[in-house]
Amino acid sequence: MACETAHFRPDEPGLLVAASLACPLCLSSDVRWSLDEGGYDRRARCVCTACGHERDVFLTPEQALRLSLHRTCPLDLTPHSPDLLTAL
Ligand SMILES: [Zn+2]
Repeated sequence: MACETAHFRPDEPGLLVAASLACPLCLSSDVRWSLDEGGYDRRARCVCTACGHERDVFLTPEQALRLSLHRTCPLDLTPHSPDLLTAL
C-alpha cells in the first residue's frame, strides 16, 4: 500500500480538495475516503472505485479538520472561483 501526503490547503474549494485525493494511478476522482485519527498521524484511507487502488494519504491537523466537516456533507465539486473558470 502506497503512502503520500495531501496537497491541499484547508481553506481551498472542495473541488481542489477532491483533486488532491484523486487516484494517482488512473486519475479518477471517484475515490471513497475515510478518516483515521486513531494514532499520532492523521490520515485518509482512500480507495479508488474505478481501479480499486488503495492508499493512505497523510494529513495535517488542519486538513483532517477540513475533511471531518465532510463526513456527512459531501465536498462541493462546483467551481466557484472566477479564476478557475477563466483558466479553463
Ligand atoms: Zn484508480
